[in-house]
Amino acid sequence: MTQEPVISIQHINHYYGKGALRRQILFDINLEINPGEIVLMTGPSGSGKTTLLSLIGGLRSVQEGSLKFLGKELYRASQTKLVSIRRKIGYIFQAHNLLEFLTARQNVQMAVELDKYISQKEAIAKAETILRAVGLGQRINYYPDSLSGGQKQRIAIARALVNNPALILADEPTAALDKQSGRDVVELMQRLAKEQGTSILLVTHDNRILDIADRIVEMEDGILVRQSQGAVIKGKVY
Ligand code: ADP
Ligand code: MG
Repeated sequence: MTQEPVISIQHINHYYGKGALRRQILFDINLEINPGEIVLMTGPSGSGKTTLLSLIGGLRSVQEGSLKFLGKELYRASQTKLVSIRRKIGYIFQAHNLLEFLTARQNVQMAVELDKYISQKEAIAKAETILRAVGLGQRINYYPDSLSGGQKQRIAIARALVNNPALILADEPTAALDKQSGRDVVELMQRLAKEQGTSILLVTHDNRILDIADRIVEMEDGILVRQSQGAVIKGKVY
C-alpha cells in the first residue's frame, strides 16, 4: 500500500510586496513529507524558511503552485477549510508563546478545548496526561514564569501534540535553549512523534540536532538547494 504524503508541494512560488516593491521570496519549491517522517530544514537567515512553514501551516495563502495537506489542496482553499487544516497541525515556535497568566495545564487544555465536542473534564485529563509524557508531571499547576526555558518549550511541545496532529511544524524550537535543553527537547519531540506517527518539519540552525532527521533539506535564497537522506548525512559533517 502506498501511503498518501502528509505534505505534497509542487512548484510553489511566493512573493511579498506590491507593484515595484514586489519581491519573489520562494522559487519553484517541491517537497513531500511522508507519514511519520522527520524532516529538518536548514539555511541562512532570510532564505525563506519561515515563509514556507507559514504556507504549509495554512497561516498564509498560497499564491502560486500546489500545496496539499493530506490530499487537500490549500491553493485557493476557503477560510473554513484552512481553519480545519490548522487544527490538524501542531505549531512550535522559537519563543514558546505560552500565556503567562495560565498554568501549564491550562495552556495545554486551551488547545484541547478548540474541539467543542470535548468536555472540560476530558480536556483536563488529556492535558495532564501529555504533560506527564513530556516529563512535567510535577509542574502541572505551575505558571510559565516559574519554569525554565526548556520546561516552557516542553509545555509548547505538549500543547502542539495534545490533539494528535498529523504534522508538527517547528520553527527554530531550540534557538533560545542551552545545548542540553535543546537536545532534550528535540529528542522528546522525536520520541512522541514516532509513538503517534506524527510527521515533523523542523527549521533549525543547530548542527547538533541534525542526527534526529530522517531527511535534511536546505534552503538558500528561496530555493530548496539540497535534499539528503538521513543515512547519507550521518557519516558526514554537515
Ligand atoms: P527565514 O525564516 O529563512 O529567515 P523568512 O521567510 O522569514 O526567512 O524571510 C524571507 C525573506 O522575506 C526575507 O528577506 C524577509 O525580510 C522577507 N519577509 C519575511 N516576511 C515578510 C513580510 N511579512 N513582508 C515582507 N517581507 C517579508
Ligand atoms: Mg525564520
